[in-house]
Amino acid sequence: MKPYSYVAVIGIDGMGNFNRQAETPQLDRIFKNGAVTYHALSMDPTISAENWGGMLLGTDPAVHNLTNGSISCNPYRNDALPTLFRRIRAAMPAAYLASAVNWTPINIGIVEDGIGVDKRTAENDTLVTAEILDCVSKKPTFLFVQLDEVDGAGHHFGYGTPGHLAKIREIDALVGRIYDAYVQQGIAEDTLFLCLADHGGVNHGHGGWAETEKYIFFGAAGRDVCPGEISFAVTKDISATVLYALGLPVPAYTPGGYTSQVPLGIFPDPALTYRQSAPMKHPAQKPSVAYDAPEGLGPLFGARVQLCLQCDDTLTDAAGRCSLQEHGAVKFYSNGVRGATAEFGATGALTVEGLRLQPGFSILFWVLADANLPEQICVLGNKSPERGLHQARGFNVLLRNHSIMVQYGCGDDDTDTVTAFGADRYSGWIHVALSFDTQSGETVCYLNFQRAHTDRIAAPFAESLPQGGAFVIGDDARMTYNRSRGLIFRMDDLLILDGTLTDADVAALGKLYE
Ligand SMILES: [Zn+2]
Repeated sequence: MKPYSYVAVIGIDGMGNFNRQAETPQLDRIFKNGAVTYHALSMDPTISAENWGGMLLGTDPAVHNLTNGSISCNPYRNDALPTLFRRIRAAMPAAYLASAVNWTPINIGIVEDGIGVDKRTAENDTLVTAEILDCVSKKPTFLFVQLDEVDGAGHHFGYGTPGHLAKIREIDALVGRIYDAYVQQGIAEDTLFLCLADHGGVNHGHGGWAETEKYIFFGAAGRDVCPGEISFAVTKDISATVLYALGLPVPAYTPGGYTSQVPLGIFPDPALTYRQSAPMKHPAQKPSVAYDAPEGLGPLFGARVQLCLQCDDTLTDAAGRCSLQEHGAVKFYSNGVRGATAEFGATGALTVEGLRLQPGFSILFWVLADANLPEQICVLGNKSPERGLHQARGFNVLLRNHSIMVQYGCGDDDTDTVTAFGADRYSGWIHVALSFDTQSGETVCYLNFQRAHTDRIAAPFAESLPQGGAFVIGDDARMTYNRSRGLIFRMDDLLILDGTLTDADVAALGKLYE
């Protein structure tokens, strides 16, 4: 394929795939002979910075670690993970590149300074479009656009409501004006147009993994685009798609690094391949092994074990160190990973006495994940995730339908870390190992014995980890979150250890479960 001379990415914040339900005469016209899908994926968490960052950096939120807060004030530069702009600049020193956004943090904290990108912003989408038209008159090799008002309407009126859909129609007209500017410049024939949303929404918000949050529209139009359906695409695939269209090399797929790929169904190139994340392996269910047996959990971690809850028809600490008090009734089922499993949540929870949570500690457990969870469930912790109590000191571990989230509070602020399961949908037993350092703030999450996410929380959050209320297994510190929502979940073999985890610790545990 002859490379395109120009590529335009038109990003519509918060549109999800709701354009399917809205009147969009301009998108219909532009993508009539294009390649489209209404089931491309946002990335978890379905939040702006995570996904705009993913598009421009070609990787997952767990790798780039950008958040709405971080990009609003911290200029981005990482030689190991440059943006699409920097990659294009390196190959095309004289090219005119432009980033025109309504949501300014993209131009502050994602697109690098000092690489000759014409950064434009304005206070509403109509004024941004005026800036865009000016950029188009300079025939940009690459133009990146973010229009923000559709997301604002979703938050205000509710996603998918008439007010949200009316705003999509309004912004559709602006997209039409941008397209027509390319036609007027005489370069539309040699331009690849890409249009997508960063995420959708549900009710008045987004961030979770509901169908209407995670699925997004992704369309491509241009002279060589295959008319029809794109088989699969993720927001982060923008980077590879743009590089490919411009005839530039696409970096190798590197787990833990650059993982943007060219979706299939856009370009007529039979050599293109697309790797989907491998399905996760379900553990073999076997009889329980006694805590102190040679192959049991006791000898592996020895004196580091603070609590071992094997969930085998009894709710006692197998290590004999902590005292547990049952509230409600925890139920047992026979089909755990090792022996039985216990069901916690609205019907039963435990308070724990005698835990030491500093200078570091680790929490390891099997949990039965469910891709169709109605909402997030509080697995354990010592703070309350209730609205208004987000900022309370301590932490909570939450199971979501696609990820594990830890929420941290320090008294007057809150933050969180999210580790996605990495497969689009996952239901089944998954092993989670969380390591917390209350001094350095380093937090690590392992999934199925592989390091999946490393982060560093600010000192006030790290210091507050041990300062929550009661330590509860099966609900939040006040035992109201799951109970008031009727949420239940199953867990097996919970371990709480003194000290942080090494990769070797986790690998040794994985071996025990083989
Ligand atoms: Zn957004």
